[in-house]
Amino acid sequence: MTEEILICNGRVIAETHYLPKGYVLIKNGKIASIGEDWSEIFAEEVIDVQGLIISPGFIDMHTHGIKDVDFMESDPENIVRGLFEYAHFGVTRVVGSTLSNPFEQIISQAKRIRAARENRDYGDILLGVHIEGPWLIPSQRGGHALPYLRVPEKDDVNRLLNEVGDVIRTVTFAPELPNAVWLAEQLSYRGIVGTIGHTEASFEETEKIILAGVRHVTHLYDGSHGFKESPNEALVMMPGLETAVVMYDDVSIELIGCPVHVPKPFFRYIDKVKPRNKKVIVTDSLVGTGMPDGTTLTYRDGRKVYVSEGVLRMIDDDPNIHGNLTGSAVTMNVALRRLKEYTNLSFSEAIRWGSINPATTLGIDNETGSISIGKYADLVIIDEEFDVKMTFLKGKLVYKIH
Ligand SMILES: [Zn+2]
Ligand SMILES: [Zn+2]
Repeated sequence: MTEEILICNGRVIAETHYLPKGYVLIKNGKIASIGEDWSEIFAEEVIDVQGLIISPGFIDMHTHGIKDVDFMESDPENIVRGLFEYAHFGVTRVVGSTLSNPFEQIISQAKRIRAARENRDYGDILLGVHIEGPWLIPSQRGGHALPYLRVPEKDDVNRLLNEVGDVIRTVTFAPELPNAVWLAEQLSYRGIVGTIGHTEASFEETEKIILAGVRHVTHLYDGSHGFKESPNEALVMMPGLETAVVMYDDVSIELIGCPVHVPKPFFRYIDKVKPRNKKVIVTDSLVGTGMPDGTTLTYRDGRKVYVSEGVLRMIDDDPNIHGNLTGSAVTMNVALRRLKEYTNLSFSEAIRWGSINPATTLGIDNETGSISIGKYADLVIIDEEFDVKMTFLKGKLVYKIH
């Protein structure tokens, strides 16, 4: 491994500054120097990026899969292959999401994810597991299979945390379920990020779960309610989850970077109402992501879907079902390009939603998530369209466009 790499002649999105023409010097995998004048710097390897953008690598804290790789089904070898695919789209850290399933399956899959992290070349991309389901509300379950949904029984929670708690980063659950406050406390106590999702929680139920340590919301505006009419007074609206999570500044909000899943005005709204470090873009992407439009996929249960403009849609003989939305297939670079377009943010501000902000929510902002001296050189070189040219993981070039 080259010990010193100078990446120069780029537009640098540093943590605190934007340099229209600058450099980043990497030493032993970490960022050693950032600035505007590289004429006196001599490194073993020099990469002139000719005016491209030098950005922090992207962090996707909610994704189920990419191409033909699925965090709920693939073995360690295929998961590693998937990590390489993420790097194509500028991602330098992911949290792999599972789906509602029997606990034995979730636990054995978490163990496979743990094994994939051992890979020398790409293992560092994989932060761990996001447990999404089975502790969700049936009415807001989305793509989660109804027969698998459960309330958080203490034995199940203890078993999951004892067997694979070390590799779990985040857990999405509905705050109104029995034992949910206890569950939130168990997670907070262990340093696992509890997150609110697939829920009909009221304002009060959301407040209680925040008190128990929950600091994040899973895909707001997908599988969650805003206001509801009061049962006591006609036409009077009751505050709901959205009001609580907007009101508490310490809670970060995640949006899927997709205009089908999140109507465009919500991007501007969340940008306006949340503090600068509490807004996060995710892909929530499924198998099929990164494949060309029109690609068809067949699931194990026989259902067929096709890829279309960053989403997956149903193939069915029934015209009422054919074309129905089944999930997201957006990549992080496209999600960020859209965010920038919908909000009119600068490159620096838009990229925060997919780098330092998820790093902050996950508690890894001291080591990655921004271009700052001493942090890992997790970098991505992109053009104005967010097309990825190179990706560096801890100072090592892991992807380069041919
Ligand atoms: Zn979900
Ligand atoms: Zn998901």
